[in-house]
Amino acid sequence: MATGTLGDWPHLGYTGFDLDRASERRGETRDFLRHPGAKACLIAGDTMVLARRSALDALFDLDVAAGYGGRTDEACLLGLAANGAPRFALPLHAASLPHLTDRDDLMLTDLRSLAVEAMVPPDQLGLLATGKAMLAWHARRTFCSNCGERLKVGESGWRRDCPNCGAQHFPRTDPVVIMLVTDGDDCLLGRSPRFAPGMWSALAGFVEPGETFEAAVRREVKEEASIETGAVRYLASQPWPFPMSIMIGMQAQALTRDIVIDANELEGARWFSRDEAATMLTRTHEGGLVAPVPMAIAYHLIRAFVEGRDPPAG
Ligand SMILES: [Zn+2]
Repeated sequence: MATGTLGDWPHLGYTGFDLDRASERRGETRDFLRHPGAKACLIAGDTMVLARRSALDALFDLDVAAGYGGRTDEACLLGLAANGAPRFALPLHAASLPHLTDRDDLMLTDLRSLAVEAMVPPDQLGLLATGKAMLAWHARRTFCSNCGERLKVGESGWRRDCPNCGAQHFPRTDPVVIMLVTDGDDCLLGRSPRFAPGMWSALAGFVEPGETFEAAVRREVKEEASIETGAVRYLASQPWPFPMSIMIGMQAQALTRDIVIDANELEGARWFSRDEAATMLTRTHEGGLVAPVPMAIAYHLIRAFVEGRDPPAG
C-alpha cells in the first residue's frame, strides 16, 4: 500500500480566508477607503497581479493599487485585518494589464496556478479567491435583472442597488456537489474530456433548485454513471471561484456496480481499488493515471477514502 508515501495532509486551497468580514460595517465604505492602513489586491478577470517582494505578495497599499489602474469606485471590501485595517479587492480593466506585464516588481498569473504551486500563503489565497468571486459577480451584474437600469454599488461591494425600481441584488455562490462513490474497498472515479491527460476524479454537478445536497448527489451519480447510491454523507467544502461556486464534498455508498456512462458528460468511469487510487494520489500509478492536485477537494475525498478516515475540518 502506497499510503505511507502520501506525506502530510495538504492544505485545501482557497479556505485560508482569515479576515473579519465585518458585514455589519459595510456601510462605512468611505471611511474604509481613507484608512491609512488600507490595502488591496488587484484582479483583472482571471488575472491576479502580485508584488514581487521577498516573497510574492497579493496586497498593495491602496494608493499604489489605484495608481496601477485599480478601480476604487468599484472597490469590494473583503474584510478587516487583525489590526482593523481594511482589505479590498479592486477590479482592474484589461486595458491596464499591458502596462504591468513587463515590470520586474510585478507578477501576473492566474489563481489556479497560485494555488497549485502554493506561491502565496493560504490566507492570501483565500483573500484572492473571495475577491475573484466577488468581482466576477459584479462583472455579470451591471444592470438590474428586474428593470434593466444600470445598478449602483452599495454596502462596500456586497450589494448592487437599482436606482429605478429599488431592487437589491446580492452576490451569489453556486452550489456544486462533488462526491466520491464507494463500494467496500473500491471507489468510482470518472474522466471528463476537459481533464488533463490521465486525470481521473470524483463525479460532480450543480445542485438544482428545490434539491437537497443528498438528492443532487444521487441524481448526478445516476445520470453520469447509472449507479444507484444509498447513504450520502458530508465531508468537507471548498470555495471554488471559477467563477463563483462552492464545492460540497460528499461520500456516497453505491447500491449497484454496473456502470453506464453519460457520454455527454464523461469519457470514462470505472471502479478503482484503494491501492490503485493511492498510487494516483502519489503519482506512481503504473499506467500514468493521476488524481487531482492536493489543493483540490477531490484529492481530499479520495485520500480520506484511501486512508479510511475523514479529512480534517477545513
Ligand atoms: Zn431595477
